[in-house]
Amino acid sequence: MGLKILLDGELVDKENAKISVFDHGLLYGDGIFEGIRAYSGRVFRLKEHIDRLYDSAKVLMLEIPVDKKKMIDDIRVTLKANSLTDAYIRVVVTRGAGDLGLDPRKCPKASYFIIADKISLYPDELYEKGMEIATVSTRRNIPEALNPRVKSLNYLNNIMAKIEGTQRGVAEALMLNSQGFVAECTGDNIFIIKNGVLITPPAAAGALLGVTQEAVIGLAEARKIEVRKEFFTRYCIFTADECFLTGTAAEIIPVVALDGRTIASGKPGEITLKLIADFRKLTKSSGEVI
Ligand code: PMP
Repeated sequence: MGLKILLDGELVDKENAKISVFDHGLLYGDGIFEGIRAYSGRVFRLKEHIDRLYDSAKVLMLEIPVDKKKMIDDIRVTLKANSLTDAYIRVVVTRGAGDLGLDPRKCPKASYFIIADKISLYPDELYEKGMEIATVSTRRNIPEALNPRVKSLNYLNNIMAKIEGTQRGVAEALMLNSQGFVAECTGDNIFIIKNGVLITPPAAAGALLGVTQEAVIGLAEARKIEVRKEFFTRYCIFTADECFLTGTAAEIIPVVALDGRTIASGKPGEITLKLIADFRKLTKSSGEVI
């Protein structure tokens, strides 16, 4: 059975899930999205993802055609139609079809669609041995231009960085903000651990406020680990005791080297491994059954 996509409230076959070439999501990247995950039939941090989607819409003055309750119901319908219990769920809202100008007022109705598919992760080996990352020259968008907290369809900033990372032979690239502070990676938030303290850049450093990032902070606090959100530079990563990335797709992935410098012993850190174990338990036990 082929994949079923929910498009503007209707389930359609993948082949028939089509959007107008006049859609401003395509013409201008004018739209928003969320990446959500279901584990054993439970949707992890559903409320947080839905809230972030509607907050992104608010900032862009984009009216999502359905309310939060209906969106959640549509996610349930999409999972059920594809018989998926472990899935990656992509929710996309586009400005809709308009004319060739920029003006969103010419797009009378936003479109939305939901794709639920099997999840593809980084290779297992990277979780066991940790990954190497590299700093790229593309800086993260400045919040005064396009706030990275808005999860918009315009991901070119991250894509430029991803291309550079790929050229350098790494699976994830580190992005600095315009002042040279660490912001985040192309699709993941970053954490370091130094002297037992867990540190991650605040959203003000030019990062998406990650759902996984917040979940990990909660897990660390439950272990009585001190957590700080503060600005830091590459120096702090080079000299950290541990480092890892977080994201809905990646979950928690240890980082063992940056720009050719081995981080501490070059092996996934002790606290990182504990948080990975805690996170696995949390995703299995806490998600919402919808
Ligand atoms: N930063 C960026 C740029 C991202 O695209 C993502 C993944 N959506 C993240 C961080 C991680 O966020 P989350 O934990 O909410 O998936």
